[in-house]
Amino acid sequence: MRKLLFKLLCHFATESDTQSIKLLADSHRHELGFIVRKTIEEAIKVKEIIYCSEGFLHFHHRKDNISTLYHLCVDKSCREQGIGRKLVSTWEAYSLECGIKKLRLKCPVDLTANGFYHHLGFTRVAIEAGKKRSLVVWEKKLFKSEVIKPRFIASLSAGRSEVEGLRKLWQKNQDSRNPFAHVLFSPISSPPSATDYFKNLKEKNQVENVWLDCGAYQVQQGKKTYEELLSFLENFYLNNQWADGYVLPDIVPLSSDSEEIIEYKVSETIYQCQHFFDKMPDYIQQRAIAPVQGHSLSQINRCLEAYINMGVTRIGFGSFGTSGPNGSVNMLSESSLRLFKTVVDTAKEHNLQVHCFGIGGPNSYNRLLRNNIVPHTLDSTTWWKAGGFGSIFFPHTSQIQVTVRKGIETTTKGLEKLKQKTNHDCYFCRDLDMLRTSRNHRIMHNLASWLDTLDSNND
Ligand SMILES: [Zn+2]
Repeated sequence: MRKLLFKLLCHFATESDTQSIKLLADSHRHELGFIVRKTIEEAIKVKEIIYCSEGFLHFHHRKDNISTLYHLCVDKSCREQGIGRKLVSTWEAYSLECGIKKLRLKCPVDLTANGFYHHLGFTRVAIEAGKKRSLVVWEKKLFKSEVIKPRFIASLSAGRSEVEGLRKLWQKNQDSRNPFAHVLFSPISSPPSATDYFKNLKEKNQVENVWLDCGAYQVQQGKKTYEELLSFLENFYLNNQWADGYVLPDIVPLSSDSEEIIEYKVSETIYQCQHFFDKMPDYIQQRAIAPVQGHSLSQINRCLEAYINMGVTRIGFGSFGTSGPNGSVNMLSESSLRLFKTVVDTAKEHNLQVHCFGIGGPNSYNRLLRNNIVPHTLDSTTWWKAGGFGSIFFPHTSQIQVTVRKGIETTTKGLEKLKQKTNHDCYFCRDLDMLRTSRNHRIMHNLASWLDTLDSNND
């Protein structure tokens, strides 16, 4: 049955379908009202009737990019077989192709069809008085389903020699991918040598994108006050108009904060971001990355509204649940997934790029994908931090501590098995002893695992 339905062919009605459509319409007159033959003929001429032998859908594309449904009719004997759904989805797909932004229809309040439209993703926007009975107005916004291939941004807040060492070490891997092509670093928490180094790499075209992080983490950790951060950033950004991204200064709410504190931090983030943005020249405004903060939907929406009004083209989400000392560990709670989904959906609607700040490892990333949350870019420090703590991960896996001999996974045999299972191989994990003893080998292996995770999902 299912297969049969998928084969069901809908097409634009042609002149030869006129009589069948008229018969269908007449036999459902009590539902559709009276449709004159001329209306059908005119609609067929302008390709505004989608037809299959069991039903038809009559719509009209308005000049303001809204497509209105006039009639949807499915023969009584063929209902509940997915025909109406097929007709509506054909209308939706065609409308999207034509650049239509919204579908609209009206349905008498007492009809069960209201549930059908709700099910198809329409939203009830109003109730209007009709000729005989009230009508529910349904709308559905249309988005071009752009295929996003998330890009990894290497978060590197270290000095010149350390970063240079890692870049050199990567070359041993003979991997044509360059994990350092897109980097994010925080000028306030990196040694001054880092700025000159990245600027130089940029001038020599050895990196594609350098983003400057605002360093809110320093405030979160109590190492700087927010005022210190603001004045540092203002000065630094104004003097460094060569980078490709500038994260605006936010205050990160923590899960341990009271509701009042969270509210204060969100309001302050919005206010300061607007204020800061206004002071920046065009070069920086065009490259600003506005951090969306909030632990409730209304807070998130307020941030989004403010940033959209400011005219930024890129927003970032990093408002995860937090745990650990000073909220140093990000957690992907159910609630943060819900908030992130709202951010991604709103961004799509307004054509904004979305960055994901400080995601954990490949496992967290996969959880995003499972929830249909696909950011354009993401950064992580986990590859670096985990390596420092003696841990490694493979594509799509959680961390394993290799510096201590524990179970099977920390034996050469166990490691080989994992590599096969995850289809991963790199120069750095060829030797278990090296992984055990070299922090940088662990870091580089984790980086390779990150790239593999993104590549396998991007296929
Ligand atoms: Zn490896």
